[in-house]
Amino acid sequence: MHNLTIAEIIAKLRAKEFSSTEITQHFLKRIETLDPQYNSFITVTKEQALAQAKAADKRLVKGNAPALCGVPIAHKDIFCTNGVKTSCGSKMLDNFIPPYDATVVENYAKQHAVILGKTNMDEFAMGSSNETSYYGPVKNPWAVDCVPGGSSGGSAACVAARLAPGATATDTGGSIRQPASLCGLTGIKPTYGRVSRWGMIAFASSLDQGGVLTRTAEDAAIMLNVMASFDDKDSTCVDHELSDYTATLQDSIAGMTIGIPDEYFSEGLDPRTQELVEQAIKQYEKLGAATKRISLPHSHLAVPAYYVIAPAECSANLSRFDGVRYGYRCEDPKDLEDLYTRSRGEAFGDEVKRRILVGAYALSAGYYDAYYSKAQKVRRLIKQDFVNAFNEVDLIIGPTCPSPAFKFGAKGDDPVAMYLEDIYTIATNLAGLPALSIPCGLADGKPVGLQLIGNYFQEGRLLNAAHQFQTETDFHTLSPEGI
Ligand code: GLN
Repeated sequence: MHNLTIAEIIAKLRAKEFSSTEITQHFLKRIETLDPQYNSFITVTKEQALAQAKAADKRLVKGNAPALCGVPIAHKDIFCTNGVKTSCGSKMLDNFIPPYDATVVENYAKQHAVILGKTNMDEFAMGSSNETSYYGPVKNPWAVDCVPGGSSGGSAACVAARLAPGATATDTGGSIRQPASLCGLTGIKPTYGRVSRWGMIAFASSLDQGGVLTRTAEDAAIMLNVMASFDDKDSTCVDHELSDYTATLQDSIAGMTIGIPDEYFSEGLDPRTQELVEQAIKQYEKLGAATKRISLPHSHLAVPAYYVIAPAECSANLSRFDGVRYGYRCEDPKDLEDLYTRSRGEAFGDEVKRRILVGAYALSAGYYDAYYSKAQKVRRLIKQDFVNAFNEVDLIIGPTCPSPAFKFGAKGDDPVAMYLEDIYTIATNLAGLPALSIPCGLADGKPVGLQLIGNYFQEGRLLNAAHQFQTETDFHTLSPEGI
């Protein structure tokens, strides 16, 4: 049962081959026996999941149930869940039980999807390896001595290990696509503003966007259909017409023009990754797409600009965790200042502290123009590169990550090496564009991801191109050994 895709589960629930209760029990059992190996869940909501499954079964009997009714999924622990701990991977929120659901969580609840639990993640979504979580690292099901990618590593590992058929995730600089790439999954980050950020704990508000991790593009389309919505509780949510992403999956991509940016195939790209990505590009040519070399000349400035903007926004967003209102509070504070400093000092991990310090520095009166304001200008140039490129091409193609999954600790002492993991993913967040990663082969038994970037609100076209690739290849059907 655990090898079924979401599309197959939907069909089989309706054909009464099994009930939602049966498949939910099956996944809960797998989580119980296998997850100690991977650490992909922070909280498993067993009782609640079984109650939801029972209610879903009743609706399924009545007929006319919504698409995801009775389908078990998992939520990244960054989405607030009413009455269920939402930690954001941090000691700061280890005791936080939200009194409300995030809009994304509510959207799935309205469909009567079953929530298996909350997935592990880098602390406050800062990281590319899932080593910064207060709850310990997540292991990559393809190689347990390697990282699953981050920050949505728990969501990726649980789907790769077949502990859930799909999971929600978020992407500020690559946190959906990078773990998708390292765990052999399909992961889509929609256009900024397509998915509500209400109740999604903020890291860098102008970059954060919710999305999904699944095995196939078809499943991603099914999940995104539910996740995407206009929400007036999030002032950055865009009231753009909603499309049915499953309706265009079968469209031919013949005649589509795909751009290959020179800058994404330069120094630093692992040769095995490069070869698999080049083969994937040939596959697109076979599918009838025309390819064209393009240039995104400011690509090299994306990582430096991001590491000013994201910390700046994070230093402002995380100032709310002060030991006063909610979250961790230190023992016996002497005075107010002691309460602030010790609560924050004791509950935040090193990477979060590093970002707060860098961000507060970049925003300080003396350095604002030199760093923050400069980074915003660079951001504009990066966006313009994409606008120019999309005058000539329909999609942009390249690698998702510079190399396959690396070993634990390999980049732990070198924050800059870790930051370069997102060298191909960050620019799209700065520009607000949609992008996805799909598996395109294995290098030494570890998955390699192919990235596709689309123009604003072109999620349907991206998923269509991904699905067409998956109808001709079987990389997305491979599973880690023993699973
Ligand atoms: N790795 C990047 C960072 O640490 C991106 C994280 C993310 O997308 N949430 O900031």
